[in-house]
Amino acid sequence: MSDTLLANLNPEQLAAVTLPDQPALILAGAGSGKTRVLTTRIAWLIQTGRVSPQGVLAVTFTNKAAKEMLTRLSAMLPINVRGMWLGTFHGLCNRFLRLHHRDAGLPQTFQILDTQDQQSAIKRLMKANGVDDEKYPPKQVGWFINNCKESGLRPGDVEVNDEFNRKYVQLYQLYQDQCEREGVVDFAELLLRTYEVLLKNIPLRTHYQHRFSHILIDEFQDTNTLQYAWLRLLAGQGEYMSDIDRTRAAESKRIAVANIFAVGDDDQSIYAFRGANVGNMDSLVRDFQVRNLIKLEQNYRSHGHILNSANALIKNNAKRLGKELWTDAGVGEQVRVFEAPSDLAEAQFVLEEVGGLTRDGWPRSQCAILYRSNAQSRAFEQGLMRHGIPYRVYGGLRFFERAEIKHALAYLRLMENPHDDTAFARVVNLPTRGIGARSVEQLQDMARERGTSLYGAVAFLAGKAGTSIGAFVKLIDGMRFATQGLPLHEIVEHIIDASGLLAMYRADKEGEERIENLEELVNAARNFNAEEGYALDAPATQAEAENELPSPLAAFLSHASLEAGDNQAQAGEDAVQLMTVHAAKGLEFDAVFLTGLEEGLFPHENSLKEDGGIEEERRLMYVAITRARKRLYISFCASRMMHGQTRYGLKSRFFDELPEEALRWLTPKISGMGTGFSAGMRDAWQRGGGKPFGDADYGGGAVPAFAKPQTSHGWRLGQGVRHPKFGEGVIVNLEGAGNDARAQINFGEAGMKWLALSVARLERV
Ligand code: ATP
Ligand code: MG
Repeated sequence: MSDTLLANLNPEQLAAVTLPDQPALILAGAGSGKTRVLTTRIAWLIQTGRVSPQGVLAVTFTNKAAKEMLTRLSAMLPINVRGMWLGTFHGLCNRFLRLHHRDAGLPQTFQILDTQDQQSAIKRLMKANGVDDEKYPPKQVGWFINNCKESGLRPGDVEVNDEFNRKYVQLYQLYQDQCEREGVVDFAELLLRTYEVLLKNIPLRTHYQHRFSHILIDEFQDTNTLQYAWLRLLAGQGEYMSDIDRTRAAESKRIAVANIFAVGDDDQSIYAFRGANVGNMDSLVRDFQVRNLIKLEQNYRSHGHILNSANALIKNNAKRLGKELWTDAGVGEQVRVFEAPSDLAEAQFVLEEVGGLTRDGWPRSQCAILYRSNAQSRAFEQGLMRHGIPYRVYGGLRFFERAEIKHALAYLRLMENPHDDTAFARVVNLPTRGIGARSVEQLQDMARERGTSLYGAVAFLAGKAGTSIGAFVKLIDGMRFATQGLPLHEIVEHIIDASGLLAMYRADKEGEERIENLEELVNAARNFNAEEGYALDAPATQAEAENELPSPLAAFLSHASLEAGDNQAQAGEDAVQLMTVHAAKGLEFDAVFLTGLEEGLFPHENSLKEDGGIEEERRLMYVAITRARKRLYISFCASRMMHGQTRYGLKSRFFDELPEEALRWLTPKISGMGTGFSAGMRDAWQRGGGKPFGDADYGGGAVPAFAKPQTSHGWRLGQGVRHPKFGEGVIVNLEGAGNDARAQINFGEAGMKWLALSVARLERV
């Protein structure tokens, strides 16, 4: 049977899959089969009896990747792989903490705060303590806390060197106390708490060290310091012992040293901004004395022109370990490049192309629209919706992050744990039940005085506030009583109704979509038991079976916090895939639309200020290009609406790094100077009578795209105009000719309008 498992591997891949039990690092470029090697190795280890499924710990970067890996493994192995410890760092830590909540000092029903919850918890805390949120912006406070946690630092460990810093540390402490009181943990806490339990609890650590004889990690280049420390601990290579101790311990079998198998690509390290440390690769080689360092250079994913573009681009990075990918798939199609006058026109172009591809038989799920920042998805989503094309967004405003869903989840959280203050504060007056902000403040004061949760403080509250909030508490208690023992989806159904949320959205003219989403939540709960399967439903060991398992509701709530999936398209429906380039890591599609390739957007303007920023953006671009199998489109816009303003973009510098012969321009190529230009530059251009002006960075002397020959109607893109009703604006798009000519004009505050040029009374400004 091994033979079929190992068939279709090239010699280097085969060597990697069947390496003896020794630490190994597979370092290879995109699409060279790293994930395939890792998955096949797990199957091979199990199938040849080298390890039991319980002995494997496998870490993936996203939930989507974890699901794919489980599916592939189930196809390769005739065993139930559900109980295996395979998932993201966060997912695995969540599982660990549920099992060992007592050792971790957490209530069994602890809830997970996602990024938004964390922000509202911080804001609530700052308000309660009278902290100036202009001086200490809650976002910064959140970053500070997360950074500390990701570096393994508790408030007492942070070095305080000035007043400002002292305040941050104080807030960190207050926040931590609040989380402990409420029994909630944020994402970074999941990791740090797990790490600390393993560090301090020797019997538990020893148990897991013995249990996981094989630890495999995908996308190793993007692990952060804490994640790596966590892996070292589990692998029996922790810093907690001197070398002599470690040798003695290993000899006496007190600790087991796991076989670590990491795969990664330094060229795809794209999470430095979140603390990922590509240096972990060096550390791994040193700490584990890795002698098996395997390179894979054949790419099985992309056709030649696509691959050559990726290779040529990434060569511009100075800091690389250096590897060149090749393919025997042939050159394939050239990369199609498209310049759009506006972001709406770009979306229109992409939709038309997707339509054409689907008509030609390409599955929608094999078409991906990628963008650098989440805000860009809106134009595509609107177009897809208008045309009734099913689509699915990964990341961004995810299903579980929508307001109505978060409200419903808050009620569900109160069913699990009424002391969850974040949930309590969210829905105490939602739907409105006459509980004013003043009453909530009184309650918060009382809770602080008495050292209890908000729920616990209600009993001490007199007067009007006591009565109104008391009624809310009765409602919550009543709902908990009524839902006891019900199947998960009935619990959800009940609370949506009994909380008054459903009635609230029914009364709202625009509430229909929200009701649909709430119904979708009931569906998600119904399917959760059956298929999502919080992996704990199949305890892998006796030890796990003996531990209390969380209720299905607790499991569902964790899933809601951790899951990055979305439900715009029905499950199983063939849908176009939309996501940021970051979220696309590790994935592949037949056709990829890489959009918004404008200076300031991609590379992102923030990266220009940072050391190594451009190199990280280039790696991101490399990741984006290498997602495509057969067809790649790269587009950019002359103007784009962002944050309510029109921005004129220059085409990204990355175009200059792509090989000319690999590109096919669908719109005329303008050399040198980019296409659009900023308002200041536009003014200069107009003042200069339309003569090209020099710009050192973009090769002055070339003709800007805006200087296209004037058409019969005499208007041109970028022209400033004045309208009697809408005021001043700028033409961002032109269509048609003669009497049918129309212009899209950005009027700033009055918004974006399409006007017929023959009737609109426009003046030039
Ligand atoms: P990334 O760096 O983007 O994560 P990767 O190195 O993990 O890429 P995989 O996703 O494992 O690459 O493989 C890329 C594609 O090539 C997949 O479709 C995989 O099935 C295919 N593939 C890998 N190895 C082979 C092979 N030996 N024969 C045929 N196809 C292969
Ligand atoms: Mg991969």
